[in-house]
Formats: sequence, C-alpha cells, structure tokens
Amino acid sequence: MFTDYHTHTPLCLHAAGTPEEFVEQAVKLGLAEYGIADHAPMPNEPFDDWRMKWADLPQYEEWISRAQNAAQPHHLAIRTGLECDWIPGIEPWIAHLKTIRPWDYLIGSLHYLDDLAEFDNPLKKDFWNHVDIHQAWKRYWEMYADMAKSGLFQIMGHPDLIKKFKFYPKSDLRTYYEPAIEAIAKSGSAIEINTAGWFKECEEQYPALDFLIMANQAGIPLVINSDAHAPQELGRNFTEAKNLALQAGFTHLTRFCQYEQTRVALV
Ligand SMILES: [Zn+2]
Ligand SMILES: [Zn+2]
Repeated sequence: MFTDYHTHTPLCLHAAGTPEEFVEQAVKLGLAEYGIADHAPMPNEPFDDWRMKWADLPQYEEWISRAQNAAQPHHLAIRTGLECDWIPGIEPWIAHLKTIRPWDYLIGSLHYLDDLAEFDNPLKKDFWNHVDIHQAWKRYWEMYADMAKSGLFQIMGHPDLIKKFKFYPKSDLRTYYEPAIEAIAKSGSAIEINTAGWFKECEEQYPALDFLIMANQAGIPLVINSDAHAPQELGRNFTEAKNLALQAGFTHLTRFCQYEQTRVALV
C-alpha cells in the first residue's frame, strides 16, 4: 500500500481542490496515508508568490482538520508536514517552523540557487540561456548536500529538479550526484521519487535511475510522492515509480509518523 507525502493545497496559490476531494481520491486509490506538505512560509515576506504566508497557517490547520474528518471513516491516515525551501542561512527559520506544530516530517527542497535564481520556474526559464550549465549543476548539488547536512529534513525533495528543462551538462551525471548521496546517507534522511517530473519537460521522474541506484547502494531510505497540486494528481504514476525503485534495487519504502521512520516491504 502506497503513501503520498508530498501534496499541496490552494494556500500556495498554484494548487486546486478541497481537502475532501484529496481524501476521496486517496481512498479511491487505496492509499494508506495522505500526507499534506504545502510550501512553507519564508521569513522576510513577501518572499515570492507561490507559497503560504505566515498568516495562512491557521487556514492550513483548518485544511488538516477537514482532511482528518473526511478520512476518519475510511482507515486513511493523515500525515502533516511542510515543503521547506533551502537557501543558505535558513537553518534557524526551519528550526522555528519545526516547533509550531507536531509535524510528521519536513521535506527539504531546493528551488533557488545563489542570488535567488529560480532555475525551475517556467516564467524564468531564460535563466538557462545565460548560465554555465556545469556551474549551475555543480552549485545545485553542493547546496543539496548542504541541505542534507543540516539534518533538518526527513525527506529530501525532488532530488534532481535541476534537470527540469532538460539542460544537462556533458559529463557523467553521477559525478555531480556523489557529494549529495554521501551527505544524505550520513544524515539518515529519506529521498523521494517525485512522479511530477514525468509531466514536465524532462519527461522523467525526479531523480534519475542512476541516482536511485546510487542511493540504494548507500542505504538511503525511499518514499514515493506525487507532488500533487490537484486531487487527480495524487498517486500519479506510482506503479511506474515502484517498478523503478525495484529496478534500482530497493526492497522497502519508508513511512513517517511524528518523525519516526518505519519500513514497509516494496512488493
Ligand atoms: Zn518543490
Ligand atoms: Zn511540491
């Protein structure tokens, strides 16, 4: 039975649906757990226009309670978290976010390079016409490793999001992955297979199969998530993701409850 821990709400201003519709879809798919993890507020608001603001958190709580009420008759567990943005120096803010509610997990994601370059924003794709691809990839993976080293996150979000628009460096991509794999393995955090990548220009899940193989060899735990921004996107391509996980050598998936990990056989 699958879980889906990376899902959004309309509070981030680019998602749709109601908690009841998400729960209905989760029940229809037979998910064991529906995890809510919207884009977390950042300090120094306004920061950007695609996340919750600090003042939205009571409404986020309301979304969570409505989901819990709707799920109750269906043996569907609700888990809660946040998708937090990693930028250098953000550690105290994340530590603060951790204290505001008893979350089940925090997802760490990288959407900004230095100088707050939004490398994955379709509206800012021109970035890629003015950048050294090798340098951008190198810096992305250094920052990703730093995010793992912080030890603040249970789940490392969409690991190779940097490939979203298919700007790949020429050399073996595994050399870029190595420092991040080492840092994640040391941190004990899980990675996600994020199935949303299949529906973007890169036309494949995040991360690539080679990254999954390296992660499995390094003993990194795995979750499968959809990054749903609408109810019908919940659990998308999970069978494909499972087959890929098996191909990479994984035998288990990981679940989170109040930051505790449990392993479930991948069959
Ligand atoms: Zn994200
Ligand atoms: Zn997301």
